[in-house]
Amino acid sequence: MFVYADNAATTAMSKTAADAMLPAMQELYGNPSSLHQKGREANMALLGARETVAHCLNADPKEIYFTGCGTEADNWAILEAARLGAEAGKKHIISDTIEHHAVLHTLKKLEKQGFEVTYLPVHENGLVRLGELEAAVRPDTCLVTIMFCNNEIGTLQPVREIGALCREKGILFHTDAVQAVGHVPVDVQKDNIDMLSLSGHKFHAPKGVGALYCKKGVKLKNFIEGGAQERGRRGGTEAIPAILAMAAALRESCGHLTENMEKVTAMRDKLIDGLSKIPCARCNGDPEHKAPGIVSFCFEGVEGESLLLRLDLAGICASSGSACTSGSLDPSHVLLALGLPHEIAHGSLRLSLCEYNSMEDVDYILEQVPEVVRTLRQMSPVWLHMLEHMDDPYQS
Ligand SMILES: *Cc1c(COP(=O)(O)O)cnc(C)c1O
Repeated sequence: MFVYADNAATTAMSKTAADAMLPAMQELYGNPSSLHQKGREANMALLGARETVAHCLNADPKEIYFTGCGTEADNWAILEAARLGAEAGKKHIISDTIEHHAVLHTLKKLEKQGFEVTYLPVHENGLVRLGELEAAVRPDTCLVTIMFCNNEIGTLQPVREIGALCREKGILFHTDAVQAVGHVPVDVQKDNIDMLSLSGHKFHAPKGVGALYCKKGVKLKNFIEGGAQERGRRGGTEAIPAILAMAAALRESCGHLTENMEKVTAMRDKLIDGLSKIPCARCNGDPEHKAPGIVSFCFEGVEGESLLLRLDLAGICASSGSACTSGSLDPSHVLLALGLPHEIAHGSLRLSLCEYNSMEDVDYILEQVPEVVRTLRQMSPVWLHMLEHMDDPYQS
């Protein structure tokens, strides 16, 4: 049996995306900036893709800028908002401790340039509190950047309320919505969002393409110097095949949003129920405000890497924190921010599902994970030490 349960790291490309991409690669080879028919043909396709992406977010096509990835969109939005702030003499930014590194590392860079950043704590469920956000606002606050959905624990932040507060205070609001777009309803108008980042490969489009939504009136400047592409804001010949594939994938995801959410939520809930029966297990995130597909657990006395390797041998692709921190032995900054001690954060497992998964996948995971956890504990000095202070839950 093979189960892919690492959809928060990346998703498989959909047939719809591939069907949009292949003919674009073969036939739509014109440069959209060229005036001849091949250029016009490519430009028309690009316009169509921009309309589709805008429509799915309830934005205007003029507010969509295609980028090379979600990371680029995050960098662009934050650096530009900071530049605009500095021009107005405002150099304070508010964010939180569980952002993706695309956001955190950009903020670190700004701190070195003299900006001040307040990182709101998240509570044990991974949510920021509006009252704490409001209290952190200063007269020189120029930007609030808070993610829509966390990639490790799936927590959905109160984006609409955060946006409303920022509007009231006249502060730009950016959200990294890479894990949200295509998975939960996102409406830039209703949600009061000024800038939003998305990435194609998290909703079945190919890797290497993303977009930044930037509300009209925000005086965005170019991020990449060069030609007049993306209304002069991002030089570089547009990646037409990838952009068309992303638009097709997004249209499909948004068209099936409700049914996909229902299907994935049912699988997630069964998974959480089953994994919760494992002794000394902790489900991370908020029980209510959570993404349909992201499940995060910590198992005491178990080492995350060993768990992943064993699951891989059993044909299950999962992850400990995020794909970006796997490979390093540091526990995830997100789990530590929840207040979990290092030794517990080390025993983390993230399973992320999408509509391509089935209940059989969930059943198989529920067959394997408890056994693997049990086996690893039998060999774990940490677990044996714990048994000196408690009854063995496997004996009762
Ligand atoms: C994947 C991810 C990113 C980065 O997107 P890329 O297109 O891979 O650069 C940023 N933020 C979050 C929350 C993500 O999950």
